[in-house]
Amino acid sequence: MSADLSSAFKAFFRKDAAYPKFKTKHRSKKSFRIPQKGKVDVNNSRIYVQGIGWVKAVIHRKPIGKLKNITVTVNPSGTVYASCLFDDGLEAPVPELPEKPKVIGIDLNLERLAVCSDGREYENPRTLKQYEKRLRHLQKLLSKKKKGSENWKKFKTEIAVLHEKIANIRKDSIHKMTKKIVCDSQAEVIVIEDLNVSGMVKNHKLSKHIQDASFFEIRRQLEYKSLFYGKTLMTADRFFASSRTCHICGWHNAELTLSDREWECKVCHTRQDRDRNAALNLESFGLKALAGDAGEVKPLEMPTVDGRAAMHLRSMASVNEEKDHGYSMEAFRLA
Ligand SMILES: [Zn+2]
Repeated sequence: MSADLSSAFKAFFRKDAAYPKFKTKHRSKKSFRIPQKGKVDVNNSRIYVQGIGWVKAVIHRKPIGKLKNITVTVNPSGTVYASCLFDDGLEAPVPELPEKPKVIGIDLNLERLAVCSDGREYENPRTLKQYEKRLRHLQKLLSKKKKGSENWKKFKTEIAVLHEKIANIRKDSIHKMTKKIVCDSQAEVIVIEDLNVSGMVKNHKLSKHIQDASFFEIRRQLEYKSLFYGKTLMTADRFFASSRTCHICGWHNAELTLSDREWECKVCHTRQDRDRNAALNLESFGLKALAGDAGEVKPLEMPTVDGRAAMHLRSMASVNEEKDHGYSMEAFRLA
């Protein structure tokens, strides 16, 4: 952290100055990290940030372990968060992979969030749709305002706040879901489709953005939670036609469109729920990859499972402190 930035934040928290300006033009989150000398005071709901002092914070739960560092982040809406990294000192569990592991396939999509091959479904909260509707409405209004005007700025801020709210709701439901998938499903191996599977969403800017962000978040959480609980996460090749392939007989439905939620296999006449079928295909993809006989299937239905299977993928966890077992990340909103 530069000394300048620290004093700017100091002034900001003393309320003598506006929020410090950053030189970057990107709309990314602004943050700085403080390596040590931080304290989290749960009883008095405050955090000690070196160079700033005690700052009021919303502490939603008692952290476990030793505080390693604090990263202060400011969202576009102006909300300030302190992400505190704690070390509980425990060793990472060695992943257990029995001879016949239980494999679960998960089909991710925007509408239903996730459909699993074991029959479980995870839905987005209902409130999300309402907020998204409001967001689209505000964006429409913003486009009619003069850029840079007071009104424009007002809408811009309101949109930023709403974006954050939506992101938080999404993140929360994704957290609950990934925890259930990793812990409650009893599966040792979890199979998802690779990131950038965008063929199933309409090419609408907003939905595309949300989907990408959600998929990234789901994958990120599954990666570090799998690591945490000793599970194996696998991803299927992005060209793997999980929705189009009948999971019973392997017939390829080339005519399947985005709006087809259900379809009937022309060969075995099984009635398929689009998402459930995809999840079941991902499960068998995982089973085949583990057995090492993926070469026996045709490339279209089942692309080659190269060296990217199971264990290898695990080590490719996203660059995030959370992935190291023994560490937990708590983000507290600063008041
Ligand atoms: Zn079939």
